[in-house]
Amino acid sequence: MGYRQAPKKVLLSVERLRKHFTTGEAPAVERASFSLGEGEMLALLGPSGCGKTTTLRMIGGFEEPDDGTIILRGKDITRAAPETRGIGFVFQDYALFPHLTVLENVKFGLRKLKRAEAEARAQEMLRLVGLDGLGNRRPHELSGGQQQRVALARTLAMAPPLVLMDEPFSNLDAAMRVETRQEVRKLLKATGAAGIIVTHDQEEAMAVADRIAVMEAGRIVQIGTPDEIYRHPVSAFVASFIGRSNILTGNANGMEVTTEFGNLPLSRAANGAVTLSVRPEQIMLEADPDGPASVVGREYRGHDQLYWVQEGERCMQVISGAGATIEVGQRVRLRICDCVVPLA
Ligand code: ADP
Ligand code: MG
Repeated sequence: MGYRQAPKKVLLSVERLRKHFTTGEAPAVERASFSLGEGEMLALLGPSGCGKTTTLRMIGGFEEPDDGTIILRGKDITRAAPETRGIGFVFQDYALFPHLTVLENVKFGLRKLKRAEAEARAQEMLRLVGLDGLGNRRPHELSGGQQQRVALARTLAMAPPLVLMDEPFSNLDAAMRVETRQEVRKLLKATGAAGIIVTHDQEEAMAVADRIAVMEAGRIVQIGTPDEIYRHPVSAFVASFIGRSNILTGNANGMEVTTEFGNLPLSRAANGAVTLSVRPEQIMLEADPDGPASVVGREYRGHDQLYWVQEGERCMQVISGAGATIEVGQRVRLRICDCVVPLA
């Protein structure tokens, strides 16, 4: 699916962006830097309050940065008015005009075009998002997912090189969210537009983005492909926010580390005292009446099961196949069966 394409021409470059709202509180955004290639899809991912929306609003021009620069296609737009930036924005509530039809909503941004041209372009956009035939309806006559697509069609009609989306799927139910996010990714790729999507949902970020920028307390703490972030998290925060993680300590010696679970291979070389991340699916669980650990919790998840296993003072999360179930209270033995990741 092209997660690892050759580096594209830089479209947007954000350097050391800063925004401090309230004296006495930490800045909402601090030294945020990243760049985005033409047509690339980036997710800004992090817990509520970490500065995602503020970052997006500064790029869109709805919030003025205290410091830092925003360069779009070589032009400094840091303090340019939003409507002069040529950047599309899809709002969380879609912001459709309720009294206009679907077609009129999509035509709204095309007032500079000749009438027939605007009509043709809007029809083409509705076809692209799979809503041709619904152009005469009003927004309230559409489902949430369809309204989302109208909002996207309206934005894409203006052919922006970049579309900003703030939690765009949060008003949709779970099944609709999965379907719509794949469509949005496809549509952006089809039109060649780059996208920045803000989300607090790690699964969503991994599903739609070419790269993910993880934010923590106003700062971007890691940026990389979904695979890089999942397999090589730089900190305990990233390891636990992107998927589940068990955090251990150990003593590293090159590519090996000594832990309470024995000597284990490392994903990269390290030396001395280290903190380690072990994914729940990297641990094997064996029923053993003489085992040193016991199952204290279990969640059946259909495709697999998530266990909480207590060994001494430590509680480990383990994911294992849906087949053989080990009941809560049973004695078990844990075996780490993969290389573990040293954290920074
Ligand atoms: P996120 O989108 O990641 O949830 P935000 O960017 O909305 O986070 O907010 C980051 C921080 O900045 C929060 O502490 C929030 O309360 C604060 N904040 C956001 N907007 C404003 C504002 N207009 N005035 C004052 N504080 C704000
Ligand atoms: Mg937000």
